[in-house]
Amino acid sequence: MAVNGTKSHIHKGLFINNEYVDAKNKETITVSNPEDGSIVAEGIQVAGEADIDAAVEAAEAAYYSGPWSTWTAKERSKVMLKMADLIEANAKDLAPLETLAMGQPAWVAGFMTSVSADAWRYYAGWTDKLPGEQFPADDGNYKIVQYEPLGVCAMIGAWNGSMMFHAMKTSAAVASGNTAIYKGSEKSPLGVLAMGALAKEAGFPPGVINIVTGAGPTGAMLASHMKIRKISFTGSVGAGKKVQELAAKSNLKRVTLELGGKSPSIIFEDADMENALTNHSQNFLMNSTQVCIAASRTFVHESIAEKFVEGLKARFETLGDTPGFMGPLVDKVQFDRVKSYLEIGKKEAELITGGSQKGKDGFFIQPTIFLNPAEDARIYREEIFGPVITIKTFKTEEEVLRMANDTEYGLAAYVFTSAISRALRVAGKLEAGLVNINTSNSFSMNVPFGGYKQSGVGRESGKAGLLAFMEPKTIMINMKI
Ligand code: NAD
Repeated sequence: MAVNGTKSHIHKGLFINNEYVDAKNKETITVSNPEDGSIVAEGIQVAGEADIDAAVEAAEAAYYSGPWSTWTAKERSKVMLKMADLIEANAKDLAPLETLAMGQPAWVAGFMTSVSADAWRYYAGWTDKLPGEQFPADDGNYKIVQYEPLGVCAMIGAWNGSMMFHAMKTSAAVASGNTAIYKGSEKSPLGVLAMGALAKEAGFPPGVINIVTGAGPTGAMLASHMKIRKISFTGSVGAGKKVQELAAKSNLKRVTLELGGKSPSIIFEDADMENALTNHSQNFLMNSTQVCIAASRTFVHESIAEKFVEGLKARFETLGDTPGFMGPLVDKVQFDRVKSYLEIGKKEAELITGGSQKGKDGFFIQPTIFLNPAEDARIYREEIFGPVITIKTFKTEEEVLRMANDTEYGLAAYVFTSAISRALRVAGKLEAGLVNINTSNSFSMNVPFGGYKQSGVGRESGKAGLLAFMEPKTIMINMKI
């Protein structure tokens, strides 16, 4: 089915064993456009217990006895590279699926589609470079450490970058020979479902890449399944904790958690003002700030605060009115949540701009700036996941480091200064898995991504992301006989 005047094809079935199939479960999902409430797709199949069992059976068969189980690294690379090519070739049809389902502006959806292709290409390069080690027989035993796949791996993703999360997790899993079951978010399942047809076209054997849809209960079935050996989760802290608990209560499957953030950004008095303003407006408002690494707790040195706040206000107002730059929030739940934070914020801080719904239709929110909330303010401590920034002023490096690290989150942190020694000193002290200096929202497939503290467990991307889907095995050889 093509949708809303685009060529984008909508798949509604679960993708199991290289076919789209109806769920045995009777429940379905309706996806509507957050821009105007129009229905984008009805009848999206929701996986129940029997469907998850079917997906696990397919993934197990592919892992233990299907063609995949004997494929060489070169063969795995070939289909992964083809997958990247197909994503690029179909980008114009894939990106609108995110725009329609979650309101992602075309330029953001295009960017995320290209990151998806990058992920497949990056991990395709790892298949024949899987690390191993050996240690001498100084104690009489020669030791070999080899890294092996885990088996059937499941992944659960959030809606703010659906295809990108699918690509990052699935490519890392299959590079080393695992098989995969991916559950996209019920809020934006269309782009992820489209990946099934591309995987088949790329040449993945049946059962290697399976895709199911459903909300929390379907995710919980994956997290607690006795035959799934690993779960890689992207979403909120609350749901991540439940996933870890279910994994522990079932079969102690391995767990990677990519969770929320309330990332600090520190702007020192010697920072390039133009660059700081661009990063805290254009970059910050990307995807309507439904971004886990958003610099939502910004600290500005008091000597430049007035100029920065004035400049940021002007940019927020211009970008808020720039057609096509910002989309609506994903749905009414998120919209109501962010609106409630706006009301809370008005009592907790000085409202500089924004603070309301934008227009009357759709789930649009005005880009909003709050100045100098108290350290216990909710808008300053809790993840809002919408276009709302809090700014606090500071006097000294010591003071700002204390404030920046005073959080249970630790996903990203940002430093803006022209002094490299200070930048590196501060970066070293920030408690976050990703620190950007004089830039923001910058990440790359070839370096680890993940959080300190309650922002996560483990890492994605890079070699660390690959090893997260592998188990080290030690082999000891008695050299005395
Ligand atoms: P969410 O936790 O509500 O849902 C995420 C996924 O988990 C969805 O697929 C959902 O169906 C599933 N889920 C919900 N409850 C579950 C349960 N009990 N068991 C198993 N699965 C369950 O989060 P969301 O609203 O989709 O996404 C927003 C959150 O995700 C924010 O906190 C954001 O910061 C975070 N996020 C983190 C990263 C990262 O890489 N660290 C990236 C994107 C989003």
